[in-house]
Amino acid sequence: MEQQFGAELKDLGEKNLLWNPKSLESASEPWSVVSGKKVLMFCSNNYLGLSNHPEVKEAAIEAVKKYGAGSGSVRPIAGNMALHLKLEETIARFKRTEDAIYYNTGFTANSGAIPAIAGEGDLIISDELNHGSIIDGVRLTKAERAIFKHKDMDDLKRVLEGTKAKAYRRIWIITDGVFSMDGDIAPLDKICALADQYGAHIYVDDAHGDGVLGSHGRGIVSHFNLDGKVDMEMGTFSKGFGTMGGLIATTKTIKKYLLNKSRTYLLTGSQPPAVIAASIKALEVLEGDDALVKKLWENTKYFKARAKEIGFDTGESETPITPVMTYDESKARDLSLKLFEEGVYALPIVFPMVAKGKARIRTMIRADFSKEDLDFALEKFGKVGKELGIVK
Ligand code: PMP
Repeated sequence: MEQQFGAELKDLGEKNLLWNPKSLESASEPWSVVSGKKVLMFCSNNYLGLSNHPEVKEAAIEAVKKYGAGSGSVRPIAGNMALHLKLEETIARFKRTEDAIYYNTGFTANSGAIPAIAGEGDLIISDELNHGSIIDGVRLTKAERAIFKHKDMDDLKRVLEGTKAKAYRRIWIITDGVFSMDGDIAPLDKICALADQYGAHIYVDDAHGDGVLGSHGRGIVSHFNLDGKVDMEMGTFSKGFGTMGGLIATTKTIKKYLLNKSRTYLLTGSQPPAVIAASIKALEVLEGDDALVKKLWENTKYFKARAKEIGFDTGESETPITPVMTYDESKARDLSLKLFEEGVYALPIVFPMVAKGKARIRTMIRADFSKEDLDFALEKFGKVGKELGIVK
C-alpha cells in the first residue's frame, strides 16, 4: 500500500500537482505572517476582515465562557443549542427569506442538501463551472443530470426545451453565484426568467457573493433584486463572513424537509458555540453598517483599474476575485514565487483547477487593505511582471 500511494504521489509531484501549503502564523490580516515572513495577504477569502473583527472575536470569547468549547452532540439529538437557532433566525432576517438552515460547512451544505432535494424522476441542470462541492452533491443523487455551457443562456434554454419530452417530477437549475476562479457573476435574473418559463427551481451557491454582493453584502439575490424568486440560496460563513459554516436561506417547508432528510445535517456533531456566536455577530455587524462592503468595492475598482493600466489582463472578473492572467502555467508559478520574495502572498491557479493554458494568479481584494497596501502590491506586480515578460 505504501508503495502504491508513494507511486501516485510521485506521479502527482512530477506533474506539478502536489499541494504544499504554506502556514499562516498570525490572524488573517492585510499583513499576515506566512511561513515565517510578514507578507501582504493577497489570496485570502476574508474579504471584509471579519475573521479578526473585535466584536466578532469578543462574541466568540463570551460564548466559550457561557456555553463551553463544544456542543456535545449532533443537532437532532442534544446538540441543537439555542445559539444555532438564533443564528438561523439571523440568517433568514439578513437574507430576507422565510427561514434558513445552518450546516457545519458550505461543502456539507451542498453535498447534503442537493441529494436531499433531488432524486429519481428529477433533473439537475448545472453550469459547467460549478464548484466541486456541488458536483459531489449531484453525484450523490439518483437524479438525471445535464450540463449547460458556462453562463450560456441559449444553452440553458436548449436543455430546458429538451425537458418537455419527459415528465420530470422536479427540475433544478444549480449554479454558482460568483465563480471562484474567474470572479464572474452568474446571470441570475435571466436564469430566473428561464426557470419561470419552464417550471424549474433554482439553487444558487452564493459562497463568494456573501458579504460581497448586494445591499450590506446580502448576496447575489439582493444584487439582482430577486427576493422571493430563488428557491434555495446556499452560502458560506468561511469567506466574507469571516467564520465557518454553510447556510441555506429558503422557505420553512424546505428547511423542515432538509433537517429531516439531509445526512450532512443529521449525522454530524454541531458547530461549537464560539463559531456560532461569532457568525451571528458577523451578520449583525453587516446589518448595522455597510461601510466594509463599500470599502471592498472601492478597493476592488482601484486595484483592477491600476492593474489594467500596468498592462495586466484581469480576465472576466466582475468582483473582488481578480485573476491576473499569465495563461502559461510556469509563468504563474514563477510570478507567485517572486511576489512572495517581494512580500506579496498570491497563489497561482493552474490545471486542473482551471483549463490548461488558462493559468493565473488569483488575487483576492479585501476591505481592510489601505491604498498604500494596494499600491505596494501593484508596484511589486509591475516589477515582477516586467522581469518575467508578462507586461512591458
Ligand atoms: N461553494 C463555493 C463556490 C466555494 O468556493 C466554496 C469554498 N471553497 C464552498 C462552496 C465550500 O464552502 P466552505 O468553505 O464553507 O466549505
